Formats: sequence, structure tokens, C-alpha cells
Amino acid sequence: MMHFGLTEEQKMMIDTLRRFIAQELKPLEEEVETTGSLAPAKAQEIFRKSQALGLYALNISQDLGGGGLSTVDRMLCEEQMGHTTDILIRRAFGNVYEALLACQGAQIERWLTPCVCGERTASIAITEAGAGSDAQGIKTRAVLQADGSWILSGSKHFISDAEVSDFFIVSAQTGQAASDREISLFLVDKGTPGFSVGKDQKMMGLRGTSHNELWFDQVKLEPIALLGERGKGFKMAMQVLGVVRLAQVGARAVGKAAHVLELMTDYATQRRQFGKPIADFQMVQQMLADSAIEINAARWMVLHAAWKIDQGLDARDDIAMVKVQAAETLGRVVDRGVQVFGGMGYCKDLPMERYYRDARIYRIYDGTSEIHRSVIARSMARRGAAVFDLHR
Ligand SMILES: Cc1cc2nc3c(=O)[nH]c(=O)nc-3n(C[C@H](O)[C@H](O)[C@H](O)COP(=O)(O)OP(=O)(O)OC[C@H]3O[C@@H](n4cnc5c(N)ncnc54)[C@H](O)[C@@H]3O)c2cc1C
Repeated sequence: MMHFGLTEEQKMMIDTLRRFIAQELKPLEEEVETTGSLAPAKAQEIFRKSQALGLYALNISQDLGGGGLSTVDRMLCEEQMGHTTDILIRRAFGNVYEALLACQGAQIERWLTPCVCGERTASIAITEAGAGSDAQGIKTRAVLQADGSWILSGSKHFISDAEVSDFFIVSAQTGQAASDREISLFLVDKGTPGFSVGKDQKMMGLRGTSHNELWFDQVKLEPIALLGERGKGFKMAMQVLGVVRLAQVGARAVGKAAHVLELMTDYATQRRQFGKPIADFQMVQQMLADSAIEINAARWMVLHAAWKIDQGLDARDDIAMVKVQAAETLGRVVDRGVQVFGGMGYCKDLPMERYYRDARIYRIYDGTSEIHRSVIARSMARRGAAVFDLHR
């Protein structure tokens, strides 16, 4: 027997999130859009309220102070979060990267626990100006010293939330020879001598979140800064980013698309032309129906991949497929959203044009559509139909 329904607990959890987002976050969206930032007092307020409702750090286990959700439950929540904007999600619900679960001993108290309880925030810094899709091609290098410390040199760019983050999970080459591709992860506190946050690289959308360059000029890191095993950094980052991708791109894209479709449907039934609602015109109906079909397909793909993770099954190919499907579904739905709204879809008086701009990044970050398509195709060459066949 396969179950596709929601339990009473899941319904309650979704209702709580929906109410919180509608009452506390949605009203802040326009202000962030116009001013370009979220006032620290407001950020603090939404964090406090969300934490009081048990909605902060939902992805982290309860023994560490998080929400302890299964992957499926997390995706149900992430879909709801997708109804609002990146910056408000970050401030209200946190952004505790699972890579931090590799913290050991004194690292736990210094970096993991404060992050889970919202005292500190972190960014993940992998991308460099010369290494994006080819994340193993980074040039940032950490050299081990005789006393066990490391000297980190290099730079990163496009690092989300860098202006606010207290520390960074940074990937660096640690191989002996410059040609070795041995990547490790390091925890680097803001304020460490030699480390500076560079300019905010202004984006098409995502107002309120900064995306910065990072500069590391002979930064001395204590041995404790090495996160996980030396040389395992690329594997760790890819494993961790798999779930992050499913949640922050897959589920959130579904949520965003669903929100846009709700607005499109309302508008199409209210807006009248030629003496009738535009929802009566078949070409408009097709845009609504296609959007509903595609959102539904993407949502079930997200939940199926999440279920596989909860069962301990390998979901890497599924996540790559979800990334493409959800991001591209969102792109198509929001494009239709602008179309259904007509001139008002293009006009800044309504949020549709902002949703359109915010949606575009989904096909680019966390691995572009092209990279995920090549991951899927390579896997098919290796594993054949097992990539997409339910029975294998
Ligand atoms: C708003 C924003 C936020 C971001 N946040 C972060 C962050 O917090 N931390 C972080 O580390 N990074 C972050 N990034 C970086 C992001 O992950 C990269 O931009 C992304 O991985 C693509 O890399 P690139 O921009 O260098 O593009 P490139 O790798 O240069 O790709 C350019 C084009 O070439 C294509 N291409 C490249 N290689 C292949 C191939 N093998 N086959 C087919 N096509 C290929 C790509 O698909 C793309 O269309 C962010 C980026 C943005 C824009």
C-alpha cells in the first residue's frame, strides 16, 4: 500500500507555517523590495516569533536544538517557505547548513550550536570567479603549517548573505602540489585577520540578501578550523548540498510556483475583458492548467526524492532531476504569470514582476540546469533505466 496523504500533524505544521508567513512575513516583502534591506529590529522580531513557534532550524535534529523533521516533512515546510522571499526565509527560519553536522568536539559549541539556536549565522563559500560549475577547479588554497595551523589564501564570489554571516564554510585546495585536486572545508570567522568581505555583487532579484566577494590574504586558521576530514571537503559539500538543493531549490520553487498560480487564478477570474473574465478564454485556461499540471509533477518528484532519503536510499539522481524540473517549472509558471497579468504583470505596482526576477536564479545556482542534465545523462550511461525506473 502506498500512502500519498498528509497526516494530521503534517496538516497542522503546514497550517502553522502558512499563517506565520501570511501574517508575519508577507507584509514585509514590499518594504524589503523598496529599501533593499530588512531592518535588523524586524529581522530580530521575525526570528523571535518563529523560534517561539518551533519553526527555526527545522532541518537539524532535536537533540541539537533543531526541529528534527524527517526529510519529507522538511520538504512540506520548505514548499510553504517558498511562498515568501529568500531574505525573509533566512531570517525567520535560519539557514543551518548540514555541513556543520560534521563539527566535532569544541567545534560544536563554537559553530554548530550557536547556529542552530540563531545566535550566529553562516554562509557557504565554494564558488570563485574562475570556478563555478567546476567546483573542484577552485584556486583558494590552505597550506598546513608545522604547528598544525593552516594559512588560507584566495578569494570567493557570489557568497549569499555574506554581509550578515558571522562565519563561513570555505572550500580550499589542501593538496601538496598545486596541481592536486584535494579539497577540504574550513570554518572561518568574520574578523579573522587577513579575511575581508568584498563588494556586494548586485543581482537581478533577491533584494535584501547580499552576495559578496570574500578575500583571504594569508589568513591563519587554528587546527580546529578544519571541518570534517582533510581531503573529503568536495564529497561533503556535494552530499550536503544535495539535500539543500532539494529543499531550497526543489521544494521552494514548487512553493513559489504554487503561490504565483494562486495569484494568476484569482486575477484571471476577476479581470474582465470583452465582457467576461479572462479565465473564460481558452488560451488563458491553458496557461493555468499547464501550470497546475507541472507544479503537481514537480511537487511529487520533490517528495519522492525526500522519501528516498528518509529510507536511506541513494537519491542523487532524483535530486538532479528535481532541480531541473522544479526550477524550470517555476520559470515557466512565473512567465505565464506575467502574461496572465498583462501590463500589470510587468508593472512594479504588483509583485508579479518581482517574482519573475526572483525566479530566474533557480536555474543557475546550486548547479545549473545544464550541469544537472549532464549528471543525469552520465548516470544513465552507467546505470541505465535504474535512473528513472521505479522497480530497479
Ligand atoms: C544569486 C546567487 C547566489 C549564489 N550563492 C552562492 C553561495 O552562497 N555560495 C557559493 O559558493 N556560490 C553561490 N553562487 C554561485 C552559483 O552556485 C554559481 O553561479 C553556479 O554554480 C554557476 O557557476 P558560474 O556562475 O560560474 O557559471 P559557469 O560555471 O561559468 O557556467 C556558465 C554557463 O556554462 C554552462 N556550463 C558550464 N559547464 C558546463 C558543462 N560541463 N556542460 C554544459 N554546460 C556547462 C553553465 O550551465 C552556464 O550556462 C551564487 C550565485 C548567484 C547568482
